[in-house]
Amino acid sequence: ATIFNNIEQLPPDALFGIKQRYSKDTRSHKVDLGIGAYRDNNGKPWVLPSVKLAEHSIHSDPSYNHEYLNISGLNAFTTGASNILFGPDSIAIKESRIVSNQSVSGTGALHIAAKFISKFFPEKKIYFSKPTWANHQAIFQAQNLQCDSYPYWDAATKSIDMEGYLNAIKTAPRGSVFVLHACAHNPTGLDPTNEQWANILDMLNMGDHLVLFDSAYQGFASGDLNKDAYAVRLGVEKLSDNVPIFVCQSFAKNVGMYGERVGCFHLVLPRQSNEDETAKVKAALSSQLNKIVRSEISNPPAYGAKIVAQILNDENMTNQWHKDMVTMSSRIIKMRHSLRDKLNELGTPGNWDHIVSQTGMFSFTGLTADMVKRLEEEHAIYMVSSGRASIAGLNEHNVDHVAKSIDEVVN
Ligand code: PLP
Repeated sequence: ATIFNNIEQLPPDALFGIKQRYSKDTRSHKVDLGIGAYRDNNGKPWVLPSVKLAEHSIHSDPSYNHEYLNISGLNAFTTGASNILFGPDSIAIKESRIVSNQSVSGTGALHIAAKFISKFFPEKKIYFSKPTWANHQAIFQAQNLQCDSYPYWDAATKSIDMEGYLNAIKTAPRGSVFVLHACAHNPTGLDPTNEQWANILDMLNMGDHLVLFDSAYQGFASGDLNKDAYAVRLGVEKLSDNVPIFVCQSFAKNVGMYGERVGCFHLVLPRQSNEDETAKVKAALSSQLNKIVRSEISNPPAYGAKIVAQILNDENMTNQWHKDMVTMSSRIIKMRHSLRDKLNELGTPGNWDHIVSQTGMFSFTGLTADMVKRLEEEHAIYMVSSGRASIAGLNEHNVDHVAKSIDEVVN
């Protein structure tokens, strides 16, 4: 025996395990509603036309190279990323109160946030919605931070448990950290209304809580970058006089570059007494974030950031990108309607309107773990045991099979 023989083998990651089983399945009618990645109407990955334009432009630039980026990343990318997120009229941008570091996609941004909090505020408790994205707690727990949850999904009404949510904010220790999904809540597909956002943010402000917005679906959810940034911008308006705001931004979905790991971490500073003080705090924070990044990845990956920087800084490509986001979001919305309508036509017991009212990549279908298991075993349809279905995996060729199979397992 060696020193390694007592190390326990862990079960496969729940989500990537589904991907593996799906790949091995030889049934030709198999359907992947597991992982959250966009597929076209033939079930194939889609390279966005705006990305193709940007790649062409980069490769035809004679100065193209593969040099290292700065520790904080590519400036043309982080500045563009900040502009689309906070908006051109953002008071925080005008007052130069944002520190931005390029990250290894959204996960990497969350990791920087967790490292930063564990280094400077290790006593803070981190609150996540119940349920939340499967990786959230793992990222913060890995930094030895104490994680807790706030009520979110009310299974009985298939809506947000606002009373429980607001009460959790009220009773959390003053100055806790609340992780909020900026839009397209994963896994429920349920976002607060504008009025609910105002109530949530006011309540957070009253408790001096720190807010961390996880923005993984901007533009992907509704097709409109501004609409999907509503909560983040309202947060900056309402809170940033008082407390800092963290934002973890992913470009995996809205640019469809899942594997290139393009993301950004932004820290919005609370307003200081004067500009000099702001500049001083910003420089200190930037140096600390760079120290975190330097010891872990040295500097962020360049390729995807260069592509996104091209798209964000060229009017023609930006316009194409806006169209691409509409293409993706409208196909998903169309498939939501198609699935709901087919279930209604089949007379499948229950009300399926939530499939249409939920937004983003996912639908929290309400199917039980047992039904999900039968869908996989008997019908070759793969989804997460919580009943979360990636609507992007549906298309005109498979939606009939999915509706009939759901009908069969529900009945
Ligand atoms: N946050 C949420 C809510 C997500 O759903 C995801 C991806 O599914 C991420 C963050 C991180 O994604 P990535 O690291 O691929 O950018």
